[in-house]
Amino acid sequence: MTRNASAAGARGASGTRRWVLWGLLVALIVGLLAMLMWLAARYESSQVQDLLDRDAAEAVSDVRSRLLRNVQSLQALQSRNQEPSGRWSAQAATILREHQELLRIEWRDRALATLAQVDTPYRTPLFDRLGRANAQAEVQLACSNAQRASGPAYSASYFVPQGDGLGLQVMELCLPVTVEGAHGGYLVATYGLNEMLSEMVGRQLVRNQDVMFTEADGTRLAFHGLARRGNRAYSGRQLMDLPGHTLVLRLDNWRDGPDLFPNFLTAMVAAMALALVSVLVLLGRDTRRRLRAERSLADALAFRKAMEDSLVAGLRARDTLGRTSYVNAAFCEMVGFSVQELLHPDLNAPYWPPELAQEYRQRQLGRLAGNTPPREGFESVFMRKDGSRFPVMVFEAPLIDVQGRQAGWMSAVLDISEQRRVEELSRASQERLQATARLATAGEMASLLSHELNQPLAAISSYATGSINMLRDTGGPDNVGLIIQALQQIAEQSQRAGRVIKSVHDFVRRREQVHETIAPGQLVEAIMPLVTLQARKLLVRIQITLEPDLPAVRCDRTMIEQVLLNLARNAMQAMDCPGQGLRSMSLEVRRAVNGDRESGLHSWTEFSVADTGPGIPGPVAEKLFTPFFTTKPEGMGLGLSLCRTVVEQHGGTLTFETDPAHGTVFRFTLPTAAIR
Ligand code: ADP
Repeated sequence: MTRNASAAGARGASGTRRWVLWGLLVALIVGLLAMLMWLAARYESSQVQDLLDRDAAEAVSDVRSRLLRNVQSLQALQSRNQEPSGRWSAQAATILREHQELLRIEWRDRALATLAQVDTPYRTPLFDRLGRANAQAEVQLACSNAQRASGPAYSASYFVPQGDGLGLQVMELCLPVTVEGAHGGYLVATYGLNEMLSEMVGRQLVRNQDVMFTEADGTRLAFHGLARRGNRAYSGRQLMDLPGHTLVLRLDNWRDGPDLFPNFLTAMVAAMALALVSVLVLLGRDTRRRLRAERSLADALAFRKAMEDSLVAGLRARDTLGRTSYVNAAFCEMVGFSVQELLHPDLNAPYWPPELAQEYRQRQLGRLAGNTPPREGFESVFMRKDGSRFPVMVFEAPLIDVQGRQAGWMSAVLDISEQRRVEELSRASQERLQATARLATAGEMASLLSHELNQPLAAISSYATGSINMLRDTGGPDNVGLIIQALQQIAEQSQRAGRVIKSVHDFVRRREQVHETIAPGQLVEAIMPLVTLQARKLLVRIQITLEPDLPAVRCDRTMIEQVLLNLARNAMQAMDCPGQGLRSMSLEVRRAVNGDRESGLHSWTEFSVADTGPGIPGPVAEKLFTPFFTTKPEGMGLGLSLCRTVVEQHGGTLTFETDPAHGTVFRFTLPTAAIR
């Protein structure tokens, strides 16, 4: 109970630990995946950012190169015309037509007074509404810068309101003009910042993103694009340094789609994460299944072990080389050796008695050579560790492994010492019972004896009286011959009486069972004095028939004589009833002719005792061999049951045939000595 509880406790603790470990693993994996996804998203956005920065730089360089080319065109315009004229205006108009970003070109003198001017044909003239004078400050600043640098200079951008309520963000470019080698005024060109963006930035750059000019502080000046809005904006900024003024060019990229899977890489990572989690789940399920299988296997093993340990039969396995490979607890207990001592690589087992080891080794070699042991087992003797021997019953069978090959031999060993003791006890009590039966017979015989001894004793007494009388009357030597005769008669009669007494004594004396070889005639002869005693009393005629040249039989003489005597006595007693006609008992000995017995290895001798009595009625016949069953007032009812036991102990059988008309025949068989 306590062991079960502690085992359950240990199982519970290990279960909790396993769950904690699993939880930790899942948390780690989730953390790892989240980090991976975050990194992937970051990588992706940095990619976009880089691209955007590159695009912004490209846009700035586009604008710069276009501005430079414009400066060259304007310089060319000035070098072709030495003074303002119609031709100049025509050429300037051409430039304005070709460059939409330019809104107006003016030729100003050294004092910045306008000499000539042309407006872009694409919109209403810029300064129509508010007049040019408002922008004079910017023009002045740009031109003084240009004068100083002797090259193009740009003004800060400024807002020019328009008639439609909107306005334009513009910027002035001032270019010093040289007329015949001397400073001849300025060429002032006005750029629209919006137009600059739409005309000067590469088309592919503005296809998907918004482009704008801003101040350094982020204030938006001009914008070109679709003004889309998405979830997430990336923006790239690039400074555009122009002589006299600095602008910031900004590119905005609006990205759509959910934040979780912003791109292919993140989606891939997420898919792999999902796959990983599924694999984990499958692995977990597999582990659980394996654990369950392991647990049921352990339970089955424990059950088998418990079964083996609680078996009373010893189990022993030996490999194909004859070495002991397994023994159970019962076997160890039986022989008193430990498992380690028994799993010995030596072919000689420690429980083999040394005097029998040679024989056992031979038996084992035979087994290894393929001799199959008897199915019903065989008896053997083993030795305990303390050296005591004990009988065992060994059942041996081939040990077949899972592949169907013989892996050795498996034996079940039973200690049969207790069984032997019980057998011995029952044999002893059987013997005692037989002795009792003999005593009973003896009692019966004693009454016969008293009758039989009367005769010799009466004869002795009358011979003795006669002799005394003769000696007293005559006292002479004439009667010596007669007296000697009388004394001889006395001696003979007393010997006869002695024989009668001895026959009873011999019969009653208890002896050890000894099997001896004896002629059947001798057995019959031995019982004759007692049989004739009774026959004479009961007026029965006895007929003895012995087949010539009978082989000797091997038996316990006393016991078989008692069987014969019992049967003869029963036969004679059966005929001792009023109205019984012929009183004849026949005792016959011959070779058995029973076909079954003939075909066997043994040869048998059959004894039969037949009477001419009234036979045995059915109800009596049923209980005939039951101990203590008798129909006689002074009977003990042990005779027939003992007879059958004795005959069967000799390997024979006792049978009877009965018929009211002819009487009863009892037959029993004994094995002959020669073949046995
Ligand atoms: P007991 O002689 O002491 O009665 P037995 O076992 O020898 O015991 O015999 C049992 C009974 O069998 C007898 O009492 C008798 O009735 C019957 N019996 C035995 N032999 C014969 C026989 N030859 N004829 C008829 N009855 C018999």
